[in-house]
Amino acid sequence: MIKTEAVIIGAGPTGLFCAHQLGIIGLKCEIIDNLDKIGGQCIELYPDKPIYDIPAVPECTGEELTNNLIEQIKPFNFNFHLSDRVEEIKRENDQWSLKTSKGKEFLTPNIIIAGGVGSFEPRKFPVKSAETFENKCLFYSVKDKSIFKDKSVCIFGGGDSALDWAIELSKTSKVTLVHRRDEFRGAQSSVDKAMQLSKEKKIEICTHFQLSNLKGNEQLESIEIKHDDGKTKEIKTDYVLGFFGLIMQLGPILNWGLNVDKKTIPVNTENFETNQKGIFAIGDLCSYPGKLKLILSGFHEGALAARGAFKYARPDEKLRFEFTTTSKAVQERLNIK
Ligand SMILES: Cc1cc2nc3c(=O)[nH]c(=O)nc-3n(C[C@H](O)[C@H](O)[C@H](O)COP(=O)(O)OP(=O)(O)OC[C@H]3O[C@@H](n4cnc5c(N)ncnc54)[C@H](O)[C@@H]3O)c2cc1C
Repeated sequence: MIKTEAVIIGAGPTGLFCAHQLGIIGLKCEIIDNLDKIGGQCIELYPDKPIYDIPAVPECTGEELTNNLIEQIKPFNFNFHLSDRVEEIKRENDQWSLKTSKGKEFLTPNIIIAGGVGSFEPRKFPVKSAETFENKCLFYSVKDKSIFKDKSVCIFGGGDSALDWAIELSKTSKVTLVHRRDEFRGAQSSVDKAMQLSKEKKIEICTHFQLSNLKGNEQLESIEIKHDDGKTKEIKTDYVLGFFGLIMQLGPILNWGLNVDKKTIPVNTENFETNQKGIFAIGDLCSYPGKLKLILSGFHEGALAARGAFKYARPDEKLRFEFTTTSKAVQERLNIK
């Protein structure tokens, strides 16, 4: 059981800056995210795209913004719990207990939900037999590419991930790239490269096909793909990879007894508390009159939620307003010598 003064759900830009604000006022927190990396939408959806409306930063990419936010909270040494989803929250006296999908438990007086548009999950094959092989021979992301060495791999999808992995794995594996259309949606340079590799017989490309069945017992033996015209084709393969993009699921957040309005959580604008004492919602997930779904709004909301959390974490202390420029206490927390 991890005891802390606040748990932040979501390591997107809002959750990260809120962690900074908690650190500045001297509170400890733990940060949980369903993704395997820090940065939320900025890192998952547009790491290379420039953002032009971060105050005092004329231009930075999603990845640069994330790296700077991570750098800014380094002095506080907060723990991140990645690839883990908060499933359950329960009131225990004046604390909240949280349970995650990996079985971790937290006890805290404050939960700050910075869950954005929900947790990102891969869009999956709509084929029943796919579930049997999931995470054994069928994957929706690549964690360790060495397992595919000298094996047969069927890659499904028409976007950048499918093309990039087909190109990469063709160096060490027998790759078949299957797409339900003729046109690929990825970067033109990747499409050209895949076509070149197909001409050189280093990748086999099957278009107008979709997965219709997987065969095997413990180990996958072959798959069946179905053409638009109804004809099927069997391919012997060791692994299947599916890259169909991500869907966002509010998922468990909807079951936590919070008021929900059109997939957002209404909050007050004084401290961004929800209808539950000690539970705050900030960033894209919260709603109030005039809400702008922008990163800069999330920063402001995080600053006020952090201060709202103080009274539950330290009921006997009074929070003093201090500037970072002049406060010795704040500068000590930031390790400024
Ligand atoms: C293409 C694109 C371009 C954009 N450009 C701009 C721009 O120029 N300027 C701007 O200000 N904004 C822009 N935005 C919007 C901006 O990215 C969002 O406003 C911002 O990311 C919201 O931050 P957040 O931290 O609230 O949520 P998110 O970034 O969505 O992060 C939420 C995190 O919470 C995690 N999570 C959710 N539920 C759980 C759970 N139960 N357990 C564990 N983790 C969970 C998710 O995995 C996710 O990582 C853009 C968005 C897109 C898609």
